Amino acid sequence: MLDIAQHHFDITANALGLDDSLRTVLRSVKRELVVHFPVEMDDGSFRVFTGFRVQHNIARGPAKGGLRFHPAMTIDDARALAMYMTWKAAVVDLPFGGAKGGVIIDPRTITTSELERLTRRFTTEISLIIGPDRDIPAPDLGTGPQVMAWIMDTLSMHAGFSVPASVTGKPTAIGGSEGRYTATGRGLAIVTVQGMGDRGLDPDGATVAVQGFGQVGAVSADLLAAAGMRVVAVSDTSGGLYRESGLDLAALHALKEEGGRLSDFAPADRISNEELLGLDVDVLVPAAIEAQITGANVDRVRARVIAEGANAPVDPDADAVLADRGVLVLPDILANAGGLVVSYFEWVQDLQAYFWAAGEVNARLREVMIRSYQHVRAAADTADITIRDAAYRIAVDKVAHATAVRGIYP
Ligand code: NAD
Repeated sequence: MLDIAQHHFDITANALGLDDSLRTVLRSVKRELVVHFPVEMDDGSFRVFTGFRVQHNIARGPAKGGLRFHPAMTIDDARALAMYMTWKAAVVDLPFGGAKGGVIIDPRTITTSELERLTRRFTTEISLIIGPDRDIPAPDLGTGPQVMAWIMDTLSMHAGFSVPASVTGKPTAIGGSEGRYTATGRGLAIVTVQGMGDRGLDPDGATVAVQGFGQVGAVSADLLAAAGMRVVAVSDTSGGLYRESGLDLAALHALKEEGGRLSDFAPADRISNEELLGLDVDVLVPAAIEAQITGANVDRVRARVIAEGANAPVDPDADAVLADRGVLVLPDILANAGGLVVSYFEWVQDLQAYFWAAGEVNARLREVMIRSYQHVRAAADTADITIRDAAYRIAVDKVAHATAVRGIYP
């Protein structure tokens, strides 16, 4: 992932003619903290875990980014994802820099009380560099509202008073924002409809395939269906489902809520994830993990529009082929930025102790996504480049300008 992140940066830096000193500063991360910390397990034994927090750039504001609890988490992933967060914040013009972090652990292998002790000790270890005006964590793979609540509580215990603005993605009972859960999927649906309109594609009756049926994929599927589209395929780790006349999304949600897997769903044909990526659909939404459309399978991809719900689901080799074929790729740093936008709203609401209704959150999200899309689209048209290249140019230019105008200390 780090190679891909730096590849996009290098192409953009060349196109912008960025001078060497700025290039060196922005190509690497600003700060990284690696911690090895003990946790008492339920049986009284101790285990030492490794975690990290990486901040890429804070020229435009405090660092912002998720915490991932995953057995395959690496510091290089955190570096790459921190860089993505910097660009994402700049594309949608939020006053944040980028960060990412995590712990090497499969949270499903420990008990809830062990997870709570791990989270609180990890929070204490990284409290040296996080805080509401320094670096604000959020959920990512393997973490969610409960982990955010423990982080917020731990930082508040240290401070001696409640510090809700120290994390986002919290439960609403303690300062979380309305609309946060659906924000990424909502932002993606808004940008997709805009992109289709620019391509002369009518959303009404257009076909959609969604890879990944989690927070991003399932909400995207619902909202694209609400915009008139026909969701013909979805998938998760258990495989995919296809139904030409459109899947019954409400029934799929009910199945998931009962703890079922998509592969248990009867009224549809079984397909593999690979087959889903090759369906002849108007819109393909890869919303699972990175590197799903690569040089190896891009020739089988037939969608007219690809909206990146996951980070880096299309690798640079595939990206070049899709651009040549005229496929509209709505890039991750724009298409999945809705969650970051509503995280920003959550932080603002916490700082002001003044909370907005869901309708207001969604309306403001819509405004930011449409404005950002139109800005990127205009830049792409002017320079005759892809939406991804335009988004990167806008983002890197903004961050480079902020970094340059502040100057290199001392
Ligand atoms: P999630 O855990 O809620 O859902 C992930 C879904 O993808 C699950 O249905 C899972 O079964 C499926 N999946 C995992 N590996 C798969 C594979 N190899 N093939 C097919 N399906 C697979 O996660 P999420 O929050 O929906 O995030 C999805 C992606 O979007 C991640 O890459 C995440 O980093 C990115 N993202 C999430 C947000 C957000 O706000 N949640 C914001 C920006 C980017």
